[in-house]
Amino acid sequence: MNNHFFKQALLTDGWHENVSVEINNSGVLSKITKNSRHQGTDPVLECVIPAMPNCHSHVFQRAMAGLTEYKTAENDSFWSWRDLMYKTANQISAEQLYHIARYCYSEMLEAGYSSVCEFHYIHRDLTDKQNCESMSLAVINAAHDVGIQLTLLPVLYTQAHIDGSPLSELQQRFKMSTDEYISLYQSLEKRLFPEQNMGICFHSLRAVSLEKMKTVLNALNNGQPIHIHIAEQEAEIQQVLKHTGKRPVELLFENFDVNENWCLVHATHLNDDEIKMISQSKTIAGLCPMTEANLGDGVFPLKEFIQENGSYAIGSDSHILINPFQEMQILEYSQRLIRQQRVIASTQQTQNVGTLLWSDSVSGGAKVCQLPVAGLKVGQMANWISLDTQNPILTSLNGALCLDSLIFANNFIGTDTYAKGSKIAQFNQNIVQNYKNTLKSLR
Ligand SMILES: [Zn+2]
Repeated sequence: MNNHFFKQALLTDGWHENVSVEINNSGVLSKITKNSRHQGTDPVLECVIPAMPNCHSHVFQRAMAGLTEYKTAENDSFWSWRDLMYKTANQISAEQLYHIARYCYSEMLEAGYSSVCEFHYIHRDLTDKQNCESMSLAVINAAHDVGIQLTLLPVLYTQAHIDGSPLSELQQRFKMSTDEYISLYQSLEKRLFPEQNMGICFHSLRAVSLEKMKTVLNALNNGQPIHIHIAEQEAEIQQVLKHTGKRPVELLFENFDVNENWCLVHATHLNDDEIKMISQSKTIAGLCPMTEANLGDGVFPLKEFIQENGSYAIGSDSHILINPFQEMQILEYSQRLIRQQRVIASTQQTQNVGTLLWSDSVSGGAKVCQLPVAGLKVGQMANWISLDTQNPILTSLNGALCLDSLIFANNFIGTDTYAKGSKIAQFNQNIVQNYKNTLKSLR
C-alpha cells in the first residue's frame, strides 16, 4: 500500500482540502477520503491535479517540430506543411520510430500526460513493404518501456481524396486494404501489454470511403474507441460537401451510430446543427489547440459547445510543443481573440477557466482511450501532477487559482508527474542519446 496526503486536490467533483488517498499494488486508487487528517509518514503534497490523457498523437511528427516554420509557397497552409511531413514519414524505420516514440512519450509524462492515443498510419516497414507490424510494434514497445499508457489506433487510409483517387507516391506507406487492416488489427491485439488498449481508426472521410468504414466496423466493432479526423480544414469540408452534398459531421452521423465511443479529432469547423449532433450523442470532440494554431486550421466553437454540454478531450497531435497547460491557454485565448471577450470557458457551476477546461479534458480524454485515467477517483490509476507551490506566483492561492496561474501566468512553475502513485523517473540518458542519433540520421 502506498498512501499520500494532499492539502489541496482537484477530484472529479471539484477542489477539496486535506485529501488522503490509498493506492493498491497495481497503482490504482483504492480509497479517497476528503477532509481527512495526515497519518504517520504518508508523503504530503501541497496541490495536486489529475494527470491528463492525451487524445491524439502522431508521434513521429515530434522529429520535425520547429522545422517547418519557413515559407515554401505564397500561401503556406496545412497542405504545404503536409508535403514536408510526408517526406519525414517516408524516411523513418521501425527502430527510429521506437527511439522517437520513447523520447516523445517521456516528454509527455514529464509534461503531465498519463496516457496517449496514438493515431498511427505509417504502417509499411521502410524496407520490407509487406510487413505492416514492425512500425506498430515500435510504438507498443516504446510506450511500455517508458511507462505511459497507450491506446493504439491503427489507421485505415486507402485513398487520396473523397473522389476515390489513389494514394500518391508519398502516401504508399499508409496504404492498406480493409482485409489487411482487419488482420493487422487482430494480430496487434495479441501483442499489447496488459496496460494497453486498442481502437479502430479511420484517417478521415476524404481518405476512407463509407463502404470501407462499414466493412471494418462490421468486422471489428465491439465497443472499443473509434477515432477519425473530421473537420480540420475548410477545404476538406468543401470537398466532402461538393462530393456528397453533406458536411463531414452530417455525413458521419447519417451513416453510422456515432456515440460516446467515437472521438472526432479536429472538430474545428462546425455549424450549430453539428454542435448539437456531437454534444447530444455524447461523442467526444478531440481538440489539439496548439497544433491547430500552428497549422492555421481555425478555431473550435468552444463557447457554444460548452453551452450544449459537449464533451471534449485534448491532444498534442503534431507535438509542436508538449504541454497540456499551454493547450488550455491557447484554447481559451483563441476564443478571447475572436470574441473580444474574457473568460469564455466558464459555467455557473465552475467559474475558473483552468478548473473547467482541465476537469472536462480529463473526463473526455479517459473516454476516448478507454483506460482507467478518469482522474482522482477510486478505481482509476493513481496518475497526478503535483504543483510546486513554493513558486512565488502561487503564494497563498487556493487550488483553482493555482491551476489558473499555471495555465496563464507560468514563468517556471515546476510540476512533478506521478504515475501509479510514484514520481516518474528522470529522463534516461540512453533515451536521449538514441533520440539524438536518430535525429542526426534524419536531418
Ligand atoms: Zn491528426
